[in-house]
Amino acid sequence: MHNSGQVKIIMKAEILKMLREADSYVSGQQICEKFGVSRTAVWKVIRQLQEEGYQVEAVRNRGYHIVTEPDVMTREELESRMQTRWAGQNIVYYPETDSTNLRIRQLGDEGAPHGTLAVADRQTAGRGRRGRAWESPAGSSIYMSILLRPDIAPDRAPMLTLVMALSVAEGIMDCEDVEVQIKWPNDIIINGKKLVGILTEMSAQIDYINHVTVGVGINVNQTGFPEDIRQTATSLKMETGHDVKRAPLIAAVMKRLEMYYEIFLETEDLSGLMDMYNRMLVNRDRDVLILGAKEQYQAHALGINRTGELIVRREDGTEEEVFAGEVSVRGVYGYV
Ligand code: ATP
Repeated sequence: MHNSGQVKIIMKAEILKMLREADSYVSGQQICEKFGVSRTAVWKVIRQLQEEGYQVEAVRNRGYHIVTEPDVMTREELESRMQTRWAGQNIVYYPETDSTNLRIRQLGDEGAPHGTLAVADRQTAGRGRRGRAWESPAGSSIYMSILLRPDIAPDRAPMLTLVMALSVAEGIMDCEDVEVQIKWPNDIIINGKKLVGILTEMSAQIDYINHVTVGVGINVNQTGFPEDIRQTATSLKMETGHDVKRAPLIAAVMKRLEMYYEIFLETEDLSGLMDMYNRMLVNRDRDVLILGAKEQYQAHALGINRTGELIVRREDGTEEEVFAGEVSVRGVYGYV
């Protein structure tokens, strides 16, 4: 059952979809009939859309026509774009929040369904791995986290980071004409610079997962970065030269994630995805520096295995599997 607020949101999302999909005008009558509401109710929704920045033309005797759409990530906008069964089907949008991972963790504890997606325009406490910070200004980026409830052993959960990395990489390439690569395990790179960070967190017992949160930060329309990351960070706008709308990009990532997650679940490992992942791996066949807690060493990266570890060859010729939780990987001469 939906309450009246939810019905309004669903109707608004559906109207947006109708307007977007129509070649020309959609008559007020058509919309009234579809939802069984009055012309005034329809006009109210159209006015709200206009106030939010959608340029909707209203022509007497013809109806409504959408001219341009703003770069917003409201629940209605996202719902109107989503082409999935479960991934991103329950959306919570925050103009500002501390961290979307924290929001999803809480929603998970409260029983929110598998696939719940939190999206924010700004984070006041964006996070990276091991307590590092994620730069999260307003109006230009995507900060989103999805709630997953996989019925797998807890030690398999880190692979979900790689599933997400693949989904984001492919989702971006579905929307934009760019070539992205993956820096194992969790960063997406364009031209050697970091475009996306991914942070996976889990709530689990020894042998049982309560839920997993996979958070994604995508630099979309930034035109510059703070001093400390200027050399290593980039945005889609800086790479393509144009503004990129965030909502369609989120929907594209969710579509890929739903597909790849289901492939992952078939074997509960990366058997069905590792070839695709390895093709995008920026570290593949390169010398890398492995920065572990106890030692640092140089090795030659060969690719990932079925469980998502990085296989490297040491200088003495021995091969070993590197576990993502324990190390960071850098290029010998820089970030990648
Ligand atoms: P690792 O290789 O261990 O993952 P990392 O430096 O890539 O190391 P993450 O936890 O993935 O670490 O990401 C956090 C780091 O990313 C920060 O310490 C900062 O250097 C950098 N960073 C922070 N915000 C941004 C951003 N918006 N875009 C690009 N890079 C960022």
